[in-house]
Amino acid sequence: MSAGEQGPVAGVPGRNWAGNVRYAATRRHRPSSVDELRRLVAGSDRVRAVGTGHSFNRLGDTTGDLVSLAGLPPTVEVDRERHTVTVAAAVRYGDLATRLHAAGYALPTMASLPHISVAGAVATATHGSGVGIGNLATAVAALELVTADGELLTVRRDTDGDRFAGMVVALGALGVVTRVTLDVMPAFDVRQYVRLDLPRAALDEAFASAYSVSLFTDWRGDRIGQVWRKQLADAPPPADDWLGTTAAAGPVHPVPGMPAGNCTAQLGEPGPWHERLPHFRLGFTPSSGDELQSEYHLPRAVAADALAALDPVADRIAAVLQVSELRTVAADELWLSPQYGRDSLAVHFTWTGDADAVAPVVAEVERRLAPYAPRPHWGKVFTLDPAAVADTYPRHADFLALLHDLDPAGKFRTDLLDHYFPISGGRLPPGRGGWRVAPPG
Ligand SMILES: Cc1cc2nc3c(=O)[nH]c(=O)nc-3n(C[C@H](O)[C@H](O)[C@H](O)COP(=O)(O)OP(=O)(O)OC[C@H]3O[C@@H](n4cnc5c(N)ncnc54)[C@H](O)[C@@H]3O)c2cc1C
Repeated sequence: MSAGEQGPVAGVPGRNWAGNVRYAATRRHRPSSVDELRRLVAGSDRVRAVGTGHSFNRLGDTTGDLVSLAGLPPTVEVDRERHTVTVAAAVRYGDLATRLHAAGYALPTMASLPHISVAGAVATATHGSGVGIGNLATAVAALELVTADGELLTVRRDTDGDRFAGMVVALGALGVVTRVTLDVMPAFDVRQYVRLDLPRAALDEAFASAYSVSLFTDWRGDRIGQVWRKQLADAPPPADDWLGTTAAAGPVHPVPGMPAGNCTAQLGEPGPWHERLPHFRLGFTPSSGDELQSEYHLPRAVAADALAALDPVADRIAAVLQVSELRTVAADELWLSPQYGRDSLAVHFTWTGDADAVAPVVAEVERRLAPYAPRPHWGKVFTLDPAAVADTYPRHADFLALLHDLDPAGKFRTDLLDHYFPISGGRLPPGRGGWRVAPPG
């Protein structure tokens, strides 16, 4: 594959999955070796890695060189002594999971969608759900990356201490990750039950009731429409009258009215972890991509108050919403993780694709959640004030120092990074967040 082409390059996305961001890169690359990547990074003034393009903002964009690692060998190496797997950055979680399961191993958690790349998901602290389960990045034991000078650097959890914790969720700002080593655990089976109409007062009990629990709501009324309960296969099924809910009569999609065929098996049918923990099957695309997403992470201790703060605008939310999902994520120590030091409630919104209609509602949601110290999902739509975001991250200044050390010339920077990590003084216009940018093309 030739490198540095100005037009489309096969395997390098020209826009993100949702189509609301058209990448502004001048050149696109798909190197086929790490050495080729190192030369490319060393010789570039501005460079960003792109994964599978599932983020909804311009975090993965650049005006310079956009590089996809999908042309590197898709290695998956299991280490049975250390109980780890080392995987090429561009491998999709779903493909990794299939290989791991065949080797008798599992990951503790997966996102709703298995189609996303490992490095892209780790870079933004992508997560699933579970009161005792951290986000996907918390499984990282080591990272190999090409730094701004073209050198290949390996950082490990057991030898690089605190600095490692700053480098895992790095938003693509510290280098191009080539390989990721993840902790693995023995493979396990899961049964998924969907229950309907949970009283909101039973939220905590529902979250604590199984290995991984997701709640779906449209904010109308005081009941949660669907509870997706992913429980270990040998745990007892929910009782008929479990928390005042009823059992779904057949398979359902989180968005009412959408066909359930894309969704992972429900009705308590046992199956391997990687075919139950995501909501969507690897072999299907969950929707057309005509949607936007936002998500805010809040301390679990303020969950009830924060949700109540949104009630007065429930109708405005519902008018531009496909569905909302509530999940829990355990606290961790990764500096830029939205769960840093906080057991968290994740409040997610799958909006319609109408950016102009969605924007004022995003602003209203952010205004109402502001007293609860929200941290945004780095890969989704948000316009929170940079100073307020920085205030919620105790290690924000330490990350700025890391940026300065590892990328002094700002090779990996983007407008969005300048906005939220301003060391070069760059600023986006207020309230932009870099997502309402280009129509699908
Ligand atoms: C339908 C859908 C469902 C989703 N479900 C969930 C969910 O359940 N939970 C959740 O938390 N999020 C979810 N997301 C968001 C998604 O997981 C994140 O946006 C994630 O970052 C996407 O991974 P990607 O490979 O597409 O990364 P991209 O969007 O391509 O890139 C994201 C960031 O990672 C960086 N990056 C990518 N590759 C590398 C690399 N090799 N080295 C360094 N940096 C790199 C990019 O520069 C960019 O900053 C969902 C998104 C969609 C579209």
